[in-house]
Amino acid sequence: MSDSIHDIAIESLMKEERIFDPPEEFRKRANINSPDIYKKAEENFEAFWDELAKSELHWFEPYQKVLDWNPPYARWFDGGKINVSYNCLDRHVLSGGGDKIAYYWEGEPGDTREVTYADLLRDVKKCANALKQLGVQKGDRVAIYMPMVPELPVAMLACARIGAPHTVVFGGFSADALAGRINDSQAKVLITADGGYRKGNIVPLKKNADEALKNTSSVEKVIVLKRTGHDVDMTPGRDIWWHDIVPNQSEDCPAEPLDSEHMLYLLYTSGTTAKPKGIVHTSAGYLLGVSLTHKWIFDIKPEDVYWCAADIGWVTGHSYIVYGPLANHTTSVIYEGAPDYPGPDRWWSIIEKYKVTILYTAPTAIRAHMKWGPQHAQAHDLSSLRLLGSVGEPINPEAWLWYYKYIGGERCPVVDTWWQTETGMIMISPLPGITRLKPGSATFPFPGVQADVVDEQGNSVPPGVGGYLVLKRPWPAMLRGIYGDPDRYVQTYWSRFPDVYFSGDGAKRDEEGYFWLLGRVDDVMNVSGHRISTIEVESALVDDPRVAEAAVIGQHDEVTGEAIFAFVILKSDVEPTPELGEELRQHVARKIGPIARPKRIMFTPDLPKTRSGKIMRRLLRDIANDRQLGDTTTLADASVVELIQSATKANV
Ligand code: ATP
Ligand code: MG
Repeated sequence: MSDSIHDIAIESLMKEERIFDPPEEFRKRANINSPDIYKKAEENFEAFWDELAKSELHWFEPYQKVLDWNPPYARWFDGGKINVSYNCLDRHVLSGGGDKIAYYWEGEPGDTREVTYADLLRDVKKCANALKQLGVQKGDRVAIYMPMVPELPVAMLACARIGAPHTVVFGGFSADALAGRINDSQAKVLITADGGYRKGNIVPLKKNADEALKNTSSVEKVIVLKRTGHDVDMTPGRDIWWHDIVPNQSEDCPAEPLDSEHMLYLLYTSGTTAKPKGIVHTSAGYLLGVSLTHKWIFDIKPEDVYWCAADIGWVTGHSYIVYGPLANHTTSVIYEGAPDYPGPDRWWSIIEKYKVTILYTAPTAIRAHMKWGPQHAQAHDLSSLRLLGSVGEPINPEAWLWYYKYIGGERCPVVDTWWQTETGMIMISPLPGITRLKPGSATFPFPGVQADVVDEQGNSVPPGVGGYLVLKRPWPAMLRGIYGDPDRYVQTYWSRFPDVYFSGDGAKRDEEGYFWLLGRVDDVMNVSGHRISTIEVESALVDDPRVAEAAVIGQHDEVTGEAIFAFVILKSDVEPTPELGEELRQHVARKIGPIARPKRIMFTPDLPKTRSGKIMRRLLRDIANDRQLGDTTTLADASVVELIQSATKANV
């Protein structure tokens, strides 16, 4: 099996023997509390989705066909007419739910707003009318570059209402990244703000937007929301203040009935690995996928206060801050700023204040909190929490256990959810009322989803053997293409194995069928012919109580082909010493095997990450192998790379 991701090293993850059953009280009340749901979905997966599309969504006109599958192109619910903003807003308000809070919003400086469903609907209608006034028509793309304020979902839903696909660009991205995305999408209008707050500073969004627009030609008008109130340049004829065009619009704006397959949005992947791709999502199937997974995986009840602490500029925010929760008439929290501003307990004070019941975040955030220490969480009452979620990277078992213990008080199930921008919805995850949890495993494919782990030839591998994670059957929220680049769509996802979706991630299953994600296939290291996954070695390092976070990569080595180079962040109160480095090397050798012992360990205060918090191992590889750095436009903080670069050089 030298060609697949299999190796002895990978066995270590599955030695995880701690198992957590759903608490009895949780199980009794859970939205899904019988495993029969898997059987039902398997019996006839089209019938399964068909029934749910009818019961969960509002249709202006019924569809004729559930699924039309011409690999690699799927059409779901063809012939139907639907509107996503109607499903997220109007239907709740019309049935008497207008007074319910849609968003508790908190700005970083501490200002707050409560936005009800009725408020949101009114603002969305006005914003949609403003877009129409600026000449935006069905099918035109609208770029959105905003801070995490309620006007961001308003802008997205306004686009959805009139059938203008949006493309949201992270507020943390640079002018270059914004320009690239505007050019690729050919957006006609840009919605932005003067700025936003991050770590006590103003992020100069308008300034970046002006910079970006020098290198783009498609944008005709710019709507600018006043958030920070600092001075910005306004270009006459092009730029309009939000407060001058939105509030005075009419409140009359019926939702446009759109085809099921009408493009809802374009979202560029974060670019952890290469040039960003414009992932296309359409309306009906996407909405069904995100609302159903949200309801079942997060066990959403009418009284919940749900908080997905991601950025809306990331797919997690699209699916699980905006579309899924609103379709389910959920009350959510949106927080604008950094988790450690003004202090490392900011998140926990938010949970206490709003009595948050469900928290969804990423391993990178959990590891940051581990580094700062549990005392910050312990200073707050987190007893309202009943369920925790994780997404974005494989979660190290130690981070899972820390989250479970210190945040969940050992009473909340943890749902580790695997999915991608491309999948639109969560694909592999526990259902918290029925799934026995194993820390570090995303457990099982969602009902109706068919995932497999295969070798180079596309054959399923036996339990315990690593391979490629693939999806063997279409699902409603799947991407419909890469915008303007059909060849790349086929090439990237559908050419490795015929008619099978290639995720680019490695995985393995254990004897009980649990899925264990092993990280990106591109990140797998090859040491003396043994394929070793990064997460294995990183988790072994994080297993040492002194380590907060680790990233490992393969460095070219004359003897072994690649040698393991580990970048390690220590907890706040630990001193880096050569002895500690040696101890950690031995610790990995003990946990996994001598083959996985890092050749080099470098202590670093930080790691290069994307804006969504993922470790960019390819940049570490470039540094360690002394190569020119690849695309860095999506990097959160360029100074980290320089710091590591000079430290590595000094060390050779
Ligand atoms: P790009 O494709 O541009 O490099 P990206 O893959 O980081 O960017 P996303 O679509 O946001 O962009 O992330 C999806 C990827 O994140 C998955 O392919 C997987 O590698 C990782 N991931 C997400 N959730 C999990 C999880 N629960 N466990 C393991 N890995 C996960
Ligand atoms: Mg990806």
